[in-house]
Amino acid sequence: MNMYAFTMRFFRFIRKFVPDGVRKSDFIQKSWSLLLRKLSMPNKLKQTVLGSISVHITEHCNLNCKACAHFCTLADEQFLDIETFRRDCIRLAELTNNDIGTFWLMGGEPLLHPQVTVFFDIVRTYFPNIRIAILSNGILLPKQPDTFWQSCQKNRIEVHISNYPIKIDRETITQKATTFGVVLAYLGDKNTEWGKMFVLDIHGQRNYKKSWNKCAHANNCTLLREGKVYACFVVAYIDFFNKYFEQNLETTEQDYIDIYKIKNQQEIFDFLYKPMPFCRYCNVENLERFEWGVSKKEISEWT
Ligand code: SF4
Ligand code: SF4
Repeated sequence: MNMYAFTMRFFRFIRKFVPDGVRKSDFIQKSWSLLLRKLSMPNKLKQTVLGSISVHITEHCNLNCKACAHFCTLADEQFLDIETFRRDCIRLAELTNNDIGTFWLMGGEPLLHPQVTVFFDIVRTYFPNIRIAILSNGILLPKQPDTFWQSCQKNRIEVHISNYPIKIDRETITQKATTFGVVLAYLGDKNTEWGKMFVLDIHGQRNYKKSWNKCAHANNCTLLREGKVYACFVVAYIDFFNKYFEQNLETTEQDYIDIYKIKNQQEIFDFLYKPMPFCRYCNVENLERFEWGVSKKEISEWT
């Protein structure tokens, strides 16, 4: 079981034990911290098989949530080029011997990409035996043609929906998934409180090692973006934040690893296992809670 699945399973399990009068979110968070301490932070164990890799096939989004952790609310319209993706998949398959825990296709909103099923074909070609899933906000799912569902079925693509407190036509989605035999899952509870997954210190004054040590995303949220592997979404997509708010949170060559410059996947595992200079921008101790809503694109949503 990869770290993501483990986290979700734990959250589902522990919410059954919330005592009366205690806020569910506080109880879950406290239990999670306790468990990580007991297990010596399993997300900080060096990987021996890449647990997961995520790729944005669309950078922008049709929902634009407040404080979007991937900064997609701030992104211009941008679609991943098919040939770039194919080239990266070939190289990644070569490095990993076609073996990754889960390959996530996401965004932004991946269903905005006009050639979404081409990505399904490509990943399945180079990773014939792994778990592949698309992560969507679900808005466009009921409108997908049968060819979309047929491609999911043919390529064994799971459809996962992030559970936002918005109206989507769940009945049609369930009916389509059932008809075509596609695995369908909802992530998270739409009634839970939302929270910042990180708070940026735009002056970069934090101790980068301490931030990394306390960060739940470190060594746990691997992303691939145009030939480069990043340890988390913050460092991978900070350019959207920098551009929109005219900031300069700096990334250097020590904050990612180029899959075309390394000899083997061990170099990826070694890279993911250590703090990066960019972690100095993350104030991981001061995560905040808020009600889900549409972004006003104010810098305070991320800082
Ligand atoms: S739906 Fe997901 S990707 Fe889109 S803005 Fe919301 S959090 Fe970001
Ligand atoms: S940059 Fe470092 S501290 Fe910040 S979210 Fe990523 S891994 Fe965590």
